[in-house]
Amino acid sequence: MALPALVPSMTEEALEAWLRVDDPDGLAPLYAEADRVRRETVGDGVHLRGLIEFSNHCARRCGYCGLSVEHQAVVRYRMTDDEILECARKARDFGYGTVVLQSGEDFHFDGAGIASLVRAIKEETGLAITLSLGERSDDDLTRWRETGADRYLLRFETSNEALFHAIHPPLGETASDRIALLRRLRELGYEVGSGVMLGIPGQSYADLARDVALFRELDLDMIGVGPFIPHPATPLGQAIRGERDGAAPGADAPSPSAPPAPPRLPRLSAGDQVPAVEEMAYKVVALARIVCPLANIPSTSAVATLNKATGRELGLQRGANVVMPNLTPRQYRALYAIYPAKACLDETAEECRTCMRGRIHSIGRHVAQGPGHSPNRLRRAEP
Ligand code: SAH
Repeated sequence: MALPALVPSMTEEALEAWLRVDDPDGLAPLYAEADRVRRETVGDGVHLRGLIEFSNHCARRCGYCGLSVEHQAVVRYRMTDDEILECARKARDFGYGTVVLQSGEDFHFDGAGIASLVRAIKEETGLAITLSLGERSDDDLTRWRETGADRYLLRFETSNEALFHAIHPPLGETASDRIALLRRLRELGYEVGSGVMLGIPGQSYADLARDVALFRELDLDMIGVGPFIPHPATPLGQAIRGERDGAAPGADAPSPSAPPAPPRLPRLSAGDQVPAVEEMAYKVVALARIVCPLANIPSTSAVATLNKATGRELGLQRGANVVMPNLTPRQYRALYAIYPAKACLDETAEECRTCMRGRIHSIGRHVAQGPGHSPNRLRRAEP
């Protein structure tokens, strides 16, 4: 049976049909079309975003993330303002157009603290600033935007609400609503980035197709996706282990020293569960490029972690146009362990820069200059 047409308006059913294709011959037209659209809409330049993971403290208990407050073995760090500024200077000197400030949900960095950092980085470097600090108050988000932050990244992780709440417990009384937050970020004038993890236990192909359709509905400026990578010290990592040991996901943890009991996950038949594999990331990157042609799409570390040799390049050849070299000082980098064995773990900022540039050149692309604002944002600004 012929596969549905690869067009921006493709339905969820069409998206699901493509997500289920597995053989390389079948996938070739998807990748070719995504690469063609990428070239036509955002060109051959690859934007470099310098990533600063400035704090691994987190108030949350996300079932997938190694930085959860419940993971007591983690050595916690917070960079000083001076250390963060020094990284931003490095980004400017390296010719990066943007710095991305990322952390756990760490309220030690309050509204005023982040605002003064944003102001200092802007004044000194003029770089575009992306924040990725989790779910913060309306006051904070408003203030940071007014102070000069350009973009905000907040993945909705999955559009399946039951699954999201199972893996992302509330902080305090109110349940998270990341979709509402994304709409609010748009109103505040941020370039808005989001995305999902692929292959979360309990995530179906229909869920993932809906995720991709939601990228389009939210009219995202940036889309980042990566395979779910189990962290053994987390409830979801345990759920995977339990499954391997023959217990159903959501069953009680096998060992007395194990972390909190795995969350109750939707039960799926084997054919419906999205596998957390490298290829799935390329499929979603390619489909995201087709349904959101003007978005900035990174080739992410999670993909590079599963395929350290060529993962970055393959992402860039299947729809992506951004990479995020790591600027986090080496002594902190291994401590920002959202999942194990992350790519670029042992590299200095300099090595990371050289490596990324080499990878970009090796596939006949070039490093893009300037802040690399989302062409989608520019389109919206047109009368
Ligand atoms: N505290 C911020 C930044 C989190 S880290 C926030 O919550 O937005 C950025 C992303 O890493 C998360 O949004 C999630 O999609 C991804 N991530 C976390 N744990 C992961 C894991 N075990 N495997 C793959 N990706 C993971």
